[in-house]
This record gives sequence, C-alpha cells and structure tokens, in this order.
Amino acid sequence: MPELPEVEVVRRGLESWVAGRTVAAAEVLHPRAVRRNAGDLPAQLKGRTPASAERRGKYLWLPLRDGGPAEGPGEEEPGEALVAHLGMSGQLLVVDPLSPIEKHLRVRMGFTDGGPELRFVDQRTFGHLLVAPMTSGPARPVPEPIAHIAPDPLEAAFDDERFAERLRLRRTGIKRALLDQSLISGVGNIYADEALWRARLHWARPTETLTRPKIAELLAEVRAVMTEALEQGGTSFDSLYVNVNGESGYFDRSLAVYGRRDEPCRRCGTPIRREAFMNRSSYSCPKCQPRPRNARP
Ligand SMILES: [Zn+2]
Repeated sequence: MPELPEVEVVRRGLESWVAGRTVAAAEVLHPRAVRRNAGDLPAQLKGRTPASAERRGKYLWLPLRDGGPAEGPGEEEPGEALVAHLGMSGQLLVVDPLSPIEKHLRVRMGFTDGGPELRFVDQRTFGHLLVAPMTSGPARPVPEPIAHIAPDPLEAAFDDERFAERLRLRRTGIKRALLDQSLISGVGNIYADEALWRARLHWARPTETLTRPKIAELLAEVRAVMTEALEQGGTSFDSLYVNVNGESGYFDRSLAVYGRRDEPCRRCGTPIRREAFMNRSSYSCPKCQPRPRNARP
C-alpha cells in the first residue's frame, strides 16, 4: 500500500510531465478501473487540460480546465478534477506512446502535443480513476470524494492547534487516532510506528492524556519521518517515469521499528516488540515506549 511520501513522488512526476498538456484521447481498457465514475471517462477528458497535480494524504487529483493551457491569471477555477485512487498496486506511468502495452494496463491518455502518454496500470484492480466536481473546502478546493478527508500534516492547510484540540477530545489510543483519516490524513501503519518511536509514545496511550507540547513533538516527528522518506524516494525520480509500486522499499533501511521484531532498538538496544493491532501489527520498543497503565487499544 503506497503511503504519503510515495504518493507525493508520483504527484511531483505528474506535475512536471502532465500538467498544462491537453488531452487528445483517453481509452479505458478495463471497466473496473472506472467503476466509480459517473460518466464516460474518455468523453469527459477529451480536449481538457490538467491544470496542476494535487495531493491530500494518499489521494491524488488533476484539476481539469476546459480547453488548452491557461492564458493568464484571473481564469476561472476548475470545476472538475480527475481523481486517482492507486489502491494496493496502482501505478501511473508516463511513457512514450509507442512503448509496448503493459500487461495490466487499465486506462491510457494521449495528449495533443503527441508527447509521452499517461498510463494507469493496476494488477489487482483495487485502484480506480474518476472525474468528480470540485468543492470549495474550508482551507482549499478539493474534489468531492475527498471532502471528508482531513488535511495531511505536510499540507499548508493543516491546522496544528485544531488537530491537538480534536485529538484530545477523541479519547482513543494515539495510534488509532493517527490512522483516522477524518482527523489527520496520509499517516499509514509504517509512519505511525516510526513517529511514535521517535516521540517515545506507546501506541495505546490515551489521547486525552497528551499535553500540547507532547502533541506538537509528535507532529514534528510525523513530519520529519515523512520528509526523510520523501527525500530518499525523490532522489530516485529523475527519468520519464512516474511510479508507485505499492511498496515503500526505498525507505526500508532507515526504519527504526517497523518490521524489526526482536532486533535491537536503535536507541537503547532492547529487542523491538511486535503486538497485534487492528488486524495488523504495531512495532515498538518496550523500554523507550512503555505501555501506559490506562492503555486504550
Ligand atoms: Zn529503546
């Protein structure tokens, strides 16, 4: 499952390779890839121009302008966007139009400039594309299917004070809260474990017992771990290729706790423990992150 840093790498690729180019034709090769789309995707995209590439958490979208590239400031805000959900295995590739068809190609999109085309490849077909109306959210315009998702901690729209307030009212375990997309988006299992280890917090710590400074420290660690992953992922992106492969492989060597059961804590040497958590696992250090008496799973 791609996490925020991986999706941000894809967004940057789309921003440089796709934004500002007008769609000549789109083709849907598998109906499941557009199962949530209300209209005829090729007709909705033809002649329109992605204005930019945007992201919130793990969600990507391209605001669509009618007609060609912008002629100047003051142009109307795009009313619709092409939204991409990558699912478990979705990839967005920017490739030469003549390059061979990928085995799991679901949607392809050519541009009027005859340059590289955009291909959506998805082996497990959990991902999908759809055209959706934009809504003017409280902080910035987002597509309607994403309107219920809270800003992610790397967005300018993220409000630290409001997050701290809502977090304490939630009265749940801190890791459960970090994974709650209505409170904070884009923090997956891996980065939650890493940030909690850095902040020396056990995952079942009740949120109402966290002080404001501790919440600020945790947010800083969430941002640090994501930014580091982004820097490592970003360096490998230098070719005509936008890719999410569903793994965060490039960051594996830097992980302090995730997937390191029984290996020594990088801070104190205590073997890392693995505990069951919401049908998944939580990795932590028993010494640096002692279980609180009032643990709340
Ligand atoms: Zn430790």
